[in-house]
Amino acid sequence: MARYVYDLDEPTDGGRELLGGKGIGLAEMTQLGVPVPAGFTITTDACRAYMELGDFPEGLGEEVDEHLSRLEETAGKRFGDPEDPLLVSVRSGAAISMPGMMDTILNVGLNDEAASGGERFVLDSYRRLIQMYGETVDRIDAHFFSDALDEEDLPATIDSFKRIYQDQTGRPFPQDAKEQLGRAVRAVFESWNTPRAQRYRRHNDIPDDLGTAVNVVQMVFGNKGERSGTGVAFTRDPSTGEQGLYGEFLADAQGEDVVAGIRTPEPLERMKERLPEAYQEFLDTMRRLEEHYRDMQDIEFTVEDGKLFLLQTRSAKRTAAAALKAAVDMVDEGLISREEAVARIDPGQLDQLLHPRIDPDAAYDVAAKGLNASPGAASGAVVFDADTAELRGKEGEAVILVRWETTPDDIHGMIAAQGILTAHGGMTSHAAVVARGMGKPCVAGCEALSLDLDAKTMSLNGTTLKEGETLTIDGGTGEVIAGEVTLIPPDINEDFETVLGWADELRRLKVRTNADTPEDAAKAREFGAEGIGLCRTEHMFMADDRLPVVREMIMASNEDERRSALDRLLPHQQSDFEGIFEAMAGLPVTIRLLDPPLHEFLPPPEEATDARMRARIRALHESNPMLGTRGCRLGLMFPEIYEMQVRAIIRAAIAVRDRTGDPPLVEIMHPLVGFEEELRRLRELTIETADEEGDVEYLVGTMIELPRACIRADEIAEHADFFSFGTNDLTQTALGFSRDDAEGKFLTHYLQDGVLERNPFETLDQSGVGDLMAIAVERGRSTKPDIKLGICGEHGGEPSSVAFCHTLGLDYVSCSPYRVPLARLAAAQAALAEAGVEAVAVGG
Ligand code: PEP
Ligand code: MG
Repeated sequence: MARYVYDLDEPTDGGRELLGGKGIGLAEMTQLGVPVPAGFTITTDACRAYMELGDFPEGLGEEVDEHLSRLEETAGKRFGDPEDPLLVSVRSGAAISMPGMMDTILNVGLNDEAASGGERFVLDSYRRLIQMYGETVDRIDAHFFSDALDEEDLPATIDSFKRIYQDQTGRPFPQDAKEQLGRAVRAVFESWNTPRAQRYRRHNDIPDDLGTAVNVVQMVFGNKGERSGTGVAFTRDPSTGEQGLYGEFLADAQGEDVVAGIRTPEPLERMKERLPEAYQEFLDTMRRLEEHYRDMQDIEFTVEDGKLFLLQTRSAKRTAAAALKAAVDMVDEGLISREEAVARIDPGQLDQLLHPRIDPDAAYDVAAKGLNASPGAASGAVVFDADTAELRGKEGEAVILVRWETTPDDIHGMIAAQGILTAHGGMTSHAAVVARGMGKPCVAGCEALSLDLDAKTMSLNGTTLKEGETLTIDGGTGEVIAGEVTLIPPDINEDFETVLGWADELRRLKVRTNADTPEDAAKAREFGAEGIGLCRTEHMFMADDRLPVVREMIMASNEDERRSALDRLLPHQQSDFEGIFEAMAGLPVTIRLLDPPLHEFLPPPEEATDARMRARIRALHESNPMLGTRGCRLGLMFPEIYEMQVRAIIRAAIAVRDRTGDPPLVEIMHPLVGFEEELRRLRELTIETADEEGDVEYLVGTMIELPRACIRADEIAEHADFFSFGTNDLTQTALGFSRDDAEGKFLTHYLQDGVLERNPFETLDQSGVGDLMAIAVERGRSTKPDIKLGICGEHGGEPSSVAFCHTLGLDYVSCSPYRVPLARLAAAQAALAEAGVEAVAVGG
């Protein structure tokens, strides 16, 4: 017959899946000889059987009874005894932790008789039992009890709690200990299927059929007087990683009192003074647990009458700085390998070290929330246009640029601002992409934000701010706060360099950066970038000294006029490229030719200076510019634009080679190709133009950002030395989701409603877009086995998408400079996972 119950000191082969996380932890501690209260675990098998039958499976009741008898023997107390009975806690514990989702009932086994005339702690335990039992087993609303609680008069509180119980259930509070236990176990099983637990599992990809185990453990009491107490401790400092003991102790108290903040705990030193023996034993135990688990532990303990009991141990949550320091120290101490150290750091957490962030101790009110579009926090004076941002920024004032959305016209203001807040737009909006590139905080798609640009005011859910008033944004969380909040500066230290150095030795993927300026390129190099995977050239058309010439070029009525304007742009482009080649000396640089529709460079029609301009703006207008005359379509309609760009690239390469002796590694990339014939013509144009300029080596390749390009990758590869996946556009075109309009509108709704689990513009849609990529890789390589493959969409800096690119066998990922460290780490973790070392980052 199936077996459903194991004592904590009984070995099983079932592990975490059978015993749950808490159960396996208690069993391991028991078997290590660590002082843990005695008890037993009812397995997840029993829970699954219960869910199927709607009742206890055959034999479970008897098994529980047997284990209870053994527990009575160990404890030297009887369950249900009217005098000094054995009391137990009944706790849920699934294989994967679901914090706060499921139920716990303490002090099971207590009743009127055993409690009557008891000490204060007994009365207190009884009122806690009625309350927890009422709330979890009989689903009585918590407020009934909290409203009636009177700490000063426990007998009266017990009476009112019992009355509440009777009123709400129509039955008196059960006095039979076994009945209490049986119903408590059922309640825990049933808590697996509450709507909130189901929602939590769906959100966290936890299968529904795991079930929970139930741990029945002898109660120990920290509230039995001066020689008792309770506490929590870390084996290292969770905020710095510094070695040593960090924790708090509360004499004569129960764990809940610490959590509830009713009394202020004291430092652990006080425990040393009051209970020196228990303290010494605690120190030894902590050391053993760290050695056993080979990780920093977060431990809950209780001392009852001078005797130490550990209630729980788990890997400690920690800040990024602490995670790095602890990992490096543990490698030095010989506790873990470098591989394990790398696997333990959460790549997403590194952002904490690269950007200023809000002081975790600061108190503030959140006025609104938007998308966490670019990490870091900033405070500054609100400004509503780019010119004012630039003006005030140049005077040294910290400003936050607040816009409905940003366009390439706003670049100068974004450069001057400390942070950017927009009402519209999502994770790949202009504001988000540019801010990430600059390493600046950005909150985008903040629906609660509305602007009155005439009055120069903004409002956030009823809070109004005038231009010049202070605003704080946190681009890591999406929080928007009226007023100033204390920030902590970024902190890149030696531990960071050490761990990333180890990561570099482990990874197979190269990591490049998306950078459009020599400054960004240099920054990315500092962070470890191994080249540029995407240099967007359109920003170079926007600078003040160029825009008028660009407009002239667009307004030109014939090719000659257009060429004359382009001739004037060429030297500007050339000097941009020279700067970038020098900043990336020795490393490859992929330059993408002009991509956006031309009208982006023209003012809105109402600002046209004459009728001709207005007519041109109208002529260029498209209802769907993202699917219009952009990318290589533009280059094929106006070949002289791409010709000028190719000339500027090759001239820059020659100039840098002649100046430094090192020829730059040039890669020329064509955007938005869908047909073989497009790339065939563009390659021809590129080579003919380059040959006219001189003898320089370069590659010609294409972005793969349309479904058709993926499917016909074998044909396109005939004309390409490399492919770079533009997953921003590929997501847009494969899903049919406008990257400008989805977020803040239906996509936000989809995410809130659970239609989609993740934002596909942030985390690659592996099963859809990812499949298209796999097709492109396979077909591209069938034509050209050694074709170079990379990704330069925003997904190139998102850890799970980086792991996917590793699995696809790409050569590199490319991301904004501030995400380069994260990508290096994620790439190493992907390589480790392939070798069987799973990432186990605990996070903060
Ligand atoms: C892309 O589409 O993924 C890409 C990198 O190009 P852009 O974002 O400039 O369209
Ligand atoms: Mg694109």
